[in-house]
Amino acid sequence: MGERGTARFHGPSDLHLHSTHSDGTEAPAQVFSAAHRHGIRTAALTDHDTTAGWAEAAQAATSLGMTFIPGMELSAQHEWRSIHVLGYLFDPDDTALRALTDRIRASRLTRARTMADRLGQDFALTWADILDHTADGATVGRPHIADALVARGYVADRGEAFARMLSPRSPYYVSLYAPDPITAVSTIRQAGGVPIIAHPAGRTGLLSAGLIDELLSAGLAGFEIGHRENLEPDLGVLRRLVAERDLIATGSSDYHGVGKPNVPGEFTTSDEMVARILDAGTGSAPVTP
Ligand code: AMP
Ligand code: ZN
Ligand code: FE
Ligand code: FE
Repeated sequence: MGERGTARFHGPSDLHLHSTHSDGTEAPAQVFSAAHRHGIRTAALTDHDTTAGWAEAAQAATSLGMTFIPGMELSAQHEWRSIHVLGYLFDPDDTALRALTDRIRASRLTRARTMADRLGQDFALTWADILDHTADGATVGRPHIADALVARGYVADRGEAFARMLSPRSPYYVSLYAPDPITAVSTIRQAGGVPIIAHPAGRTGLLSAGLIDELLSAGLAGFEIGHRENLEPDLGVLRRLVAERDLIATGSSDYHGVGKPNVPGEFTTSDEMVARILDAGTGSAPVTP
């Protein structure tokens, strides 16, 4: 077991990976094997709105000689925009955080059923088809609906489903409940965790400077600078902000198994930044071999 703050670990580190506990296509043990195969030696499991994969991931990491950092990708929403907040090393039993993730997951279930009903009017697709592509107890999302559409032959892959039937502009789309990002960040922080905004310079554009200031006041620790969806010039703006305010900058793959082209280790987090996360997180501990 790693000692908090002084935990020994070895890079390269990939701090954003998904398993079948949310919308990845591989169980945690396979995810960690894949990461190991790609040279990763420290990894975080960051399933959407759940910590259910932590124990499996910790065991897999240990058997592979890797360090496991407990994490999650918490859903948030600001106005129309979906915002993902990565949290590391928080207390998985924290009451406020559990209440938040329970509510999001319940809403995701209702929303997926409603989308299934809407799709079922135009396609031979049932809720049972979607459940076939969702592991028991997993955080359900549009990727599971996409997999059911692929299996029925309506689309070639998840990407095509997202571009067509699952797009927010599609008549089949239903939104989900997600907290505002201030609540997401402060709840992770109060649970002893380290909040980092995931893929902050994506296609929907940068958060306003005012909101970023508020998020930093609420305990935001940094930004996921290395991510394939980040775009210039917003990325340059964020790099300068990180440097000026001495924030944490991470880099990660956002691996989803075969659900996305992302491969483990395509972006990594420096040892210095991993050490800062380990120092700042007090709600749970990394697991080292
Ligand atoms: P949801 O959580 O239901 O809103 O779905 C969003 C999730 O779908 C994100 O976690 C993404 O990883 C995944 N996703 C978004 N766009 C795509 C895409 N084009 N192909 C595959 N997965 C995607
Ligand atoms: Zn995902
Ligand atoms: Fe995300
Ligand atoms: Fe992700």
